[in-house]
Amino acid sequence: MTTGPFLSSHLRATPRNLESLQAAWARMHELGYSPRTTPVAEPEGCTRTRCAGAHHGYPGSEHRWALVDELCGAEIEVYYSHMRDRKGANSAPPRRHKGCPYSGPANAIKRAARYIEIGRPIPAWDTDARAAVPTD
Ligand SMILES: [Zn+2]
Ligand SMILES: [Zn+2]
Repeated sequence: MTTGPFLSSHLRATPRNLESLQAAWARMHELGYSPRTTPVAEPEGCTRTRCAGAHHGYPGSEHRWALVDELCGAEIEVYYSHMRDRKGANSAPPRRHKGCPYSGPANAIKRAARYIEIGRPIPAWDTDARAAVPTD
């Protein structure tokens, strides 16, 4: 299923939000995540600071995003802020969700094979997975 990037209903289509949306959507795909195929009901009473649920569209970095991990098939609810690279002194690549069987350096070969199986390029940041694939 291919659908273009869309914002959660609580976010207005401001230039800033639309710009974040493009970046977030690309990152979500890069990590092998996709939106749920069944729409997720927007949480009731969601505010900037409090939210009990997860959103179907890109919700900004402060709300959870209801996604599917295409690598392992798990339905996950993640903060976009956790999907970004950590910059600075303690830089680190983005991690997969907790408990993901494709997470970490030890699963690099399995992860590389799975990216290929689902037709996604191995992300540039995933040097462990890239190293696991012979390149000529
Ligand atoms: Zn929310
Ligand atoms: Zn997973």
